[in-house]
Amino acid sequence: MQAYTPYATTSGWNQITKGSDRGHERKLSSDLRIKFAIVGAGFAGAAVARRLCELYPDDEIVLLDALPAAEGSAGRSSGFMLDRADAKIDVRGAGPESDWHTDILQAGRAWLEDIVSTQHIRCDWRDIGHYKTSTTALGAKELNALLARLDAKGLPYRQLSGDNIRSELGTSHCTNAAWFPNCVLIQPAELIHGLLATLPAQVTLYTESPVRRLDKGAPHTLIVGQNKIQADIVIFCNNVTLPFFGYGKYRQITVYTYAGMTPELTTEELDKLGQASDWGATPAERLGPTTRKLNSRRFLFRAGFSYKKELSPDHINAVLRDMYAKRYPQMRSHQFEYTWGGALSMTRNGVPIFGRMSENVYALSACNASGILKMTALGKLLAEEIAGISGRLLSDTLQFSKPLWIPPEPIRSLAVNYNFAKLKRKMREKETKASA
Ligand SMILES: Cc1cc2nc3c(=O)[nH]c(=O)nc-3n(C[C@H](O)[C@H](O)[C@H](O)COP(=O)(O)OP(=O)(O)OC[C@H]3O[C@@H](n4cnc5c(N)ncnc54)[C@H](O)[C@@H]3O)c2cc1C
Repeated sequence: MQAYTPYATTSGWNQITKGSDRGHERKLSSDLRIKFAIVGAGFAGAAVARRLCELYPDDEIVLLDALPAAEGSAGRSSGFMLDRADAKIDVRGAGPESDWHTDILQAGRAWLEDIVSTQHIRCDWRDIGHYKTSTTALGAKELNALLARLDAKGLPYRQLSGDNIRSELGTSHCTNAAWFPNCVLIQPAELIHGLLATLPAQVTLYTESPVRRLDKGAPHTLIVGQNKIQADIVIFCNNVTLPFFGYGKYRQITVYTYAGMTPELTTEELDKLGQASDWGATPAERLGPTTRKLNSRRFLFRAGFSYKKELSPDHINAVLRDMYAKRYPQMRSHQFEYTWGGALSMTRNGVPIFGRMSENVYALSACNASGILKMTALGKLLAEEIAGISGRLLSDTLQFSKPLWIPPEPIRSLAVNYNFAKLKRKMREKETKASA
């Protein structure tokens, strides 16, 4: 495992981000002695830093990232902020665990909404809900199960007819779809740039400054290139590379997923992608694609997974273009201007790695594929845990954040590949049955 993820591609969102929230970046070039060092400037790290400022207004905080700002997974994501656990296809846990998950998502949304509005962060915040679509009988079954769960709780949604799907989403490829209100869509690179740029002055952000080693002590020492940072408290918010520093090795695995963004489209081409100027859809099939028609006149396609290794840009491009063409054969071109991959940390039972790891070392990891709201809320709670502040959401988080053991290699690879193959086979079987 490497200390950080040197991606083969850059985020398309970051490429199209212009504006004032850039320019807050610099590389570490001297030794430092501080109170708090946070490793990783994604949603988790940004949230820990902001809350620590409120709790320790007189202490210096350093936030480090190996990559330029918004080039980690935060700026590579698809920008869906779904705030109900029970409105997800992949429901993990039931009863109190699912309620806790929803509480976390809603706490993340409330806090982010407040920061975005008070700090005037421009990130195309769109409270427009989202669609769930299915293209297979397996997906239809998952979607129906989701609707039954929502019915049981009296939660709102709107089911789409075939005509609605064609007029709202511009595709005949999806057989079933429903729209749900509980989702805000954002431009993720703009959001993370804005969150980092508006941190209080007591935080110094260093980008392109990978931490390569932790020497434990009092204080701890982080090795960053030729420089050393001595910190009383170290907080790892570095997602997939947490095991490199000796934590979470048998609790989390790394999975990559991929996205493509088209060039700006003509009005005629945009009209073929449904009536509204922007919308977002996530798949009812666990391995299916996420799609977004964007206000910026582009189309986003997110699909595909790989275990541990990033696929080559050419391969990603070919796979995404093929899927895009299947869904939208009417488009004049299926070229993407940008394609990229992003790394995710996953646990077996879908809960995060959260809390104290050893003396004055804390960690937050394992977003389990969707982490904008979740890692924001958990980052805030982790700062409160460090400060010794108690509360119901924090005690629930400590109670439920118990990731299950994952076996080492080679059993790990066998198990992951077996599960991927099983999901793909299930989708194919249901497709065959549906067309028989
Ligand atoms: C293609 C794609 C689409 C996604 N879509 C969505 C979505 O629609 N909605 C959603 O909620 N989530 C989505 N996600 C997931 C989301 O991106 C993550 O859940 C979120 O970014 C996790 O936040 P984090 O702060 O834990 O980790 P990250 O955002 O990955 O931040 C960790 C940071 O740590 C840095 N780092 C790692 N090692 C080191 C080191 N040694 N030294 C210094 N820095 C280091 C990394 O460079 C990185 O910037 C998507 C992810 C991808 C890849």
